[in-house]
Amino acid sequence: MAFYGGKELREAYRSAQAGSYAFMANNIAEQNILIGLLQGYSERKSDLVLQVSPGAAKFAGAGDKLAGLRSLSHQVQILGDRFPVGIFLNLDHFTTKEMDIIEIAISERLVSSIMIDASKEDYDKNIEITNKVVDMAAGSDILIEAELGKIKGVEDEVVSLDAFYTDPDEAVEFVKKSGADLLAISVGTQHGVSKGKDVVLRTDIADKVHKRLVENGLDVPLVLHGTSGLLASQIREIIRYGICKLNKDTRYQYEYARAAHDYYVSHTSSIVPPAGVPDDANGLFSKSDWTPVKKDFDPRVVGRAIQERIKRVAMELIDQAGSANHSIVGGK
Ligand SMILES: [Zn+2]
Repeated sequence: MAFYGGKELREAYRSAQAGSYAFMANNIAEQNILIGLLQGYSERKSDLVLQVSPGAAKFAGAGDKLAGLRSLSHQVQILGDRFPVGIFLNLDHFTTKEMDIIEIAISERLVSSIMIDASKEDYDKNIEITNKVVDMAAGSDILIEAELGKIKGVEDEVVSLDAFYTDPDEAVEFVKKSGADLLAISVGTQHGVSKGKDVVLRTDIADKVHKRLVENGLDVPLVLHGTSGLLASQIREIIRYGICKLNKDTRYQYEYARAAHDYYVSHTSSIVPPAGVPDDANGLFSKSDWTPVKKDFDPRVVGRAIQERIKRVAMELIDQAGSANHSIVGGK
């Protein structure tokens, strides 16, 4: 059984903090990225943190978030059994809109951790909502991640940059009062497509948050969202300040699109009828002598190309985060 709950996940993050490495937390919505990740992580002997957002759950469930979450969780658990590393599943950016699903995820043990995102609410309300989910998960072997500060999205207008950063003093009180196991902080990264060279990473804030928490006996793992565009040097730098979970979604979305694009562009002539040939897939082009090439249009072929590319990127990112050869299962 390679799928683990909160106890092992907490240990994995603790080891990461102690050993100055981190885990990429990798978003999935379908199986090609999942399989590529499982392969890459196994090859590097790194434990694997996967996550599912409400949108991904909705997509995987053909419009039904709960069905999608159950389906992805079972897929992760069943496929995960075949790979020699520890596998964890996190709910990413679940909000008060998804309380019913959070409750079922806990009772059915579909996940190892849950991020409750109430960062849009005011400070007290954020504490109250986070604390409610912490209570719901009590005794369930599921960790709770909360977020303090706001992480800008690509579409947002910047009014005052400082308004988005996490306040180190608030962080201490927030963790104490909410009981959160992990804390996502805002230090200048952005969700979506943001170039690392344009990101001003406030490592001073991460450093302060981390130090204040440690001084107060609240050494919770810190999380950074919106890290897809960060440069390897920025990743290495931020890990020094207690960050041990780095969320990645956009990067895989891009790599998926590129793998599919490159594959189809190089196989156009065996899939798309040439000029002058009637476009009649009905009857498999019976009106002409032209025939599409089955071994090229089989979805498993492009799927394998996507998996292979994701595997390569996953290994590159594992090397940046430093999580190779630390698996709680595979050993060194
Ligand atoms: Zn996020």
